Amino acid sequence: MASPTRKDAQVVSVDNPVTRCPACGHQGGPHVVSVASTSSGLNIFVFCLFMAVCACCLLGGGMDSSLAFFCQRCGLRLVSERNIHSRVTYDPSDLTPNEGTSDKRGAVPGAHVVKSPVGLPVAVDKDWIINAGRRFTNMRPLKKLDIEKGRYKIPCSFTSLTPEFPASYTIEMPGMAPEQPADKKELQYLQSDKCSWNRHQPGPHFQVFMQCKGIKSLEVAQVHLRGGTLWGVDIKMPGGEGAGRKTWNTYQMQAADEIAWSISGAGVVWHSSQGVLLWNLRKIDSDGDGAKGRILCLLDAYDRLVAVIWKTKRPDGNGKMWELRIYIDISGEFLDEIIASYVAVRVQAERIVQEHIHDSS
Ligand SMILES: [Zn+2]
Repeated sequence: MASPTRKDAQVVSVDNPVTRCPACGHQGGPHVVSVASTSSGLNIFVFCLFMAVCACCLLGGGMDSSLAFFCQRCGLRLVSERNIHSRVTYDPSDLTPNEGTSDKRGAVPGAHVVKSPVGLPVAVDKDWIINAGRRFTNMRPLKKLDIEKGRYKIPCSFTSLTPEFPASYTIEMPGMAPEQPADKKELQYLQSDKCSWNRHQPGPHFQVFMQCKGIKSLEVAQVHLRGGTLWGVDIKMPGGEGAGRKTWNTYQMQAADEIAWSISGAGVVWHSSQGVLLWNLRKIDSDGDGAKGRILCLLDAYDRLVAVIWKTKRPDGNGKMWELRIYIDISGEFLDEIIASYVAVRVQAERIVQEHIHDSS
């Protein structure tokens, strides 16, 4: 495998903090932001911190994974050495012509912008960029879904908690053999040949089915894994009927190796149908509806919030529950895709845990 990433002009690396923004073309040092801290005072010293960290990392051979990098001109989040494992840099196909004009207030500069489900980006607000913890304080979720987790903490259902959106989803797991009592002791199950991806059998390995009042259960998304040391995942979405058969469009969660699935640090990059998105644990003050602390966020390429996974109290006070919160107006199809992508994140995280934590070899 070629490793061209170190000298890629759009990648922020320890030895080359000067980057070329793939969207607006700006060349220079990025805004450097600590996304793991909520201390605003710290931001004043962020660049100094960055330089100190770089010095440490040069000695230690890495880059601080709690830092994110943004183009100073258009606000695009840049790829760093820490998430280059995903093999996803911004591709020409991710870019669209910038429809904002320079004389239009709020328009972002540059010839291109990166596609996003949030819509056109707006002109850079430096305070917004560097205050990562406070960014989402005024956002209220438009949809909430209750996530039920099952075997190996993999989601098995999503049920809408939003009355005007009465849908639910179940996750089928054809890639896994039915649970046997003995499996409960099998802490490396997801690494074993009891799972069809380890036998290199084609997917789908997980399927998302939607149930909506008056409509029979419909398969709306698939997750296809690979076995062994291959960590890429295909999210497949219905593309219509072709030659009498349902066709599927593929959206890749590319991963050169397992570290690409680390939601802490640089996060998990996903080439969705709606643009390049990132699953990343962020420390945030509050979303405007009580979700705060260290939360798994789904962010667009300009670090705007699409969704979070939030652990909260059950309304009846009976224990805790996991919620999928959606903050922007998205199509039902894209919600299907987000659910499939989150299932992939959970499955891969659990596979990695089983490989390392419970490795008995
Ligand atoms: Zn830019």
